[in-house]
Parts: sequence; C-alpha cells; structure tokens
Amino acid sequence: MEAEDVRREVRAWLEANWNPDLSLVEWRNKLADSGWAAPTWPERWYGRALPVALGDVVSEEIERIGAVGPPTGSGMTLVAPTLLEHGSDELKQRLLRPILTGEHTWCQLFSEPGSGSDLAGLTTRAELDTATDEYVVNGQKLWSTSAHHAMYGMLLARTNWDVPKHRGITYFALEMHQPGVVVRPLRQMNGYASFNEVFLNDARVHRLNVVGEAGNGWTVALATLAHERRMFDAIQARGRSPKGKGRAIDENRAEIADLMEPYKWYPQRAGRVDLIVERAVQTGRNTDPVVRQEVVKLLSLARAAQWTAQRAKAARVLGKPPGPEGSLGKLYASQVAKGCARVHTLISGTDALLHGADGPLEGTIGEILLSVPAVSIAGGTDEIQRNIVSERVLGLPKDPAIEVDKPFRDVPKNLSGPRR
Ligand SMILES: Cc1cc2nc3c(=O)[nH]c(=O)nc-3n(C[C@H](O)[C@H](O)[C@H](O)COP(=O)(O)OP(=O)(O)OC[C@H]3O[C@@H](n4cnc5c(N)ncnc54)[C@H](O)[C@@H]3O)c2cc1C
Repeated sequence: MEAEDVRREVRAWLEANWNPDLSLVEWRNKLADSGWAAPTWPERWYGRALPVALGDVVSEEIERIGAVGPPTGSGMTLVAPTLLEHGSDELKQRLLRPILTGEHTWCQLFSEPGSGSDLAGLTTRAELDTATDEYVVNGQKLWSTSAHHAMYGMLLARTNWDVPKHRGITYFALEMHQPGVVVRPLRQMNGYASFNEVFLNDARVHRLNVVGEAGNGWTVALATLAHERRMFDAIQARGRSPKGKGRAIDENRAEIADLMEPYKWYPQRAGRVDLIVERAVQTGRNTDPVVRQEVVKLLSLARAAQWTAQRAKAARVLGKPPGPEGSLGKLYASQVAKGCARVHTLISGTDALLHGADGPLEGTIGEILLSVPAVSIAGGTDEIQRNIVSERVLGLPKDPAIEVDKPFRDVPKNLSGPRR
C-alpha cells in the first residue's frame, strides 16, 4: 500500500467516524475496531500490519482532523510490543485491548535497590503455589515511574535460583491493586515525586500472567528495553490533547494531565538548550568571549545530537535494525544536558542557584541544575552506554563477566532484599 492510499483511506474513515461527543473509551473502541489505533500491529490484534512509515501517516491524519489518538505511555510503547512478541494468545486477548482504549495503565517494575545496571542480579522472588496456580512474590522494586497510579506492572522476578542469573528470571503482568503491593512515592532533589519504591509482600500473580516462558524473562525484558527510548519520543510527540470541545477531548485532556504529571520536569532534565542564546542575550553575557565560545561548543554538540537522532529515526522508518545511533544518542543526550547546566551557570552566575520565583526564569534555571543528573542514569547510565558502544560498536574486549555461569544461589550478591 502506498502512503497516499493509506492517507485517503484513514482520512475518509475519520471524517465518517470521529465524534468528539463520544466518551473517550467509546471512541477508542471504535478506533481499535477499525485497525487505525495501532496500524503497525498485526491484523489479528487490532492492527493493519502496516510498516512504521505508513503508521506515521495515520498519526498525521488523526492529528490533522483534530481527533483523539491512541493513548501515549508505557502500555502502548513498552508493554504492547512486548506482548505482541512474547505473550500467549490468551494474554494478548485479555490485555491488549484495554491498553489501546487507555483503560489499563502500566508501570515498569525492573530496578531494585541492589540491581539497576546489573538488572539480571535481581533478587525479588516468585514461587509457584500449585494449589492456586498463582506465584507468590516477595521483594522490593525501586525507581518505578508512575507506579502510584498504574493498574499493572511489568514485573521481573526470580523463579529459579539454581541456574545462572540470566536464566532464572520470569516476566509477569502483575495487578498493582492488591493487598500485597505497597507503593511509596520518593521525593527527588528537584522537588518532584515521579517515581516510587514498590514493596511486594506475598503479592499474587496468576500463572497465566507469565509473559513468555517461566525462566525466559531476561529475553522478554530485553524486548521491552529495546522500545524504551521510543517511549520518551512518543511522550514528547503525543503528550498533548487536540484542541476543540467534546467529551472525548475533555477526557483525553484529563488523561494526559495524569500521564504527564511525572514527566513535568523532563524538559528541564534535558538541559533546555533552547534557552541558552536567549538567556545570553538577556543577561548581556553574549558579549563575553568565554561565554560565546562555550555557547557555540554546546550548540554544535546539540545540533550533532539532533542529526544523529534523525538518522536513527530514518533507519527505523526504513525498517532497518537499531544501529549504534541508539546508544550514541543516549550519551549525546546526557552530554548536552550536562553542557547546558554548565553554560546556564556560566551565564547566570550564582543566581542560577536561586530556587523558585527568586531565581532566573522563575526558578527554571535552578530546576535545570537539579534535574540534569537524571539523564545520565535513567534508561542505562553513561558508563553502561559506553560499555555497550565499546563492546558492540567498536569491538573492544568485553567487561569481565563475573560468575555468570554459576547458579545464582552461589553468586555473591549486592543484597538489600531477601537473602536466599
Ligand atoms: C528518571 C528515572 C526514571 C526511572 N524509571 C524507572 C522505571 O520506571 N522502572 C525501573 O525499573 N527503573 C527505572 N529507573 C531506574 C534506572 O534504570 C536505574 O537507575 C539505572 O539502570 C541505574 O541503576 P542504579 O541506579 O541501580 O545504579 P547502579 O547500577 O548501582 O550504578 C551505580 C554507578 O556504578 C556504575 N556502574 C555500574 N555497573 C557498571 C559497569 N559494569 N561498568 C562501569 N560502571 C558501572 C554506574 O554507571 C553508576 O555510575 C529510572 C531512573 C531514573 C533516573
């Protein structure tokens, strides 16, 4: 199918069906039935099996007509692709549609106090209770963005301690609203509380909610992580509702306000390179030769990062496998963010330290300084990205793999969770 055929067909369908007076769920159900909610998904699962480039044409048309599109967030961008790749038909049947309609929201329960970079060293345990066919889960998760309002969690837990660490992990779809799950928000140094610690005390998850095979969770987790970068792009691109009036639009606005709450400070964590020149001019620091040199260095780096991201996107649209641009892009993002913090401080001087209304740009510069460190940690730290680039792109010798072949039970652990 050509782009223009898709454009014509989706446009005709939207013109005949878009009705802002429907409830959000009613409208999303119609969209799901039409195959236009997720046009790149298989036909059997609400899609039209279109390539990514044609999927973008559908999004453009939904935006052009001012209709509400599918939800943005980890359900659509992380969970659904993982389920499509690894989930049983029963799970797809049960979980995909409420993701498409926005009725189910999700969070990611991967990191733990003792395992972030070394995710495969996780110690949350799940044991099968054969009487009920349910796994009983005990342990602690950390950094879980949006867990405080998620209905399901993508949970990684250890189900076998007698095999090497990568082979004893299982991936579950865990219901969050149950007595065994306690979610506590964590306050960050920039004042927001976007992520949580999640305590699992005899939480229960049915065997049918295993994604993939028991013990094969590491492979399934890698599928989720491969989509993580796209989630931030999707949130940036679609984290806003259409203008106009109507029940579906109002409900979408409320949904997006909830979704975006934990991400409010994300523009600041990226460093706000867009403010650099404006601030240099405003403060008169644009005439200082040292400041000018630093501004130009930073803007050149930011432009190179932008072009690398465009190359990565073009490759994705052409259906090419992800290349080194992904890891380079992540490193670029953290270099740009750190550079911004430095140059904003150079421009604002000690005023940059002022918080709230007293600070430059009503505290935005101060918020940048306190938010930038997150870019070098979230989604894989800078050091881990450098390991990936050196090993997979440059072919340098591997980071020493310590005791990866030993049964996990016998491996020394960075334990703050239950000792086994
Ligand atoms: C904003 C934000 C949102 C997040 N959201 C989520 C979420 O929703 N769900 C979730 O599960 N997690 C989430 N995380 C967690 C994130 O994935 C982890 O913080 C990250 O993987 C690092 O793990 P860690 O914090 O345990 O640090 P550690 O792994 O303990 O690392 C500590 C330091 O040691 C270095 N280091 C570790 N191993 C190596 C190595 N082999 N070589 C060289 N240096 C090394 C690291 O680079 C780092 O500097 C989020 C984090 C942030 C900042």
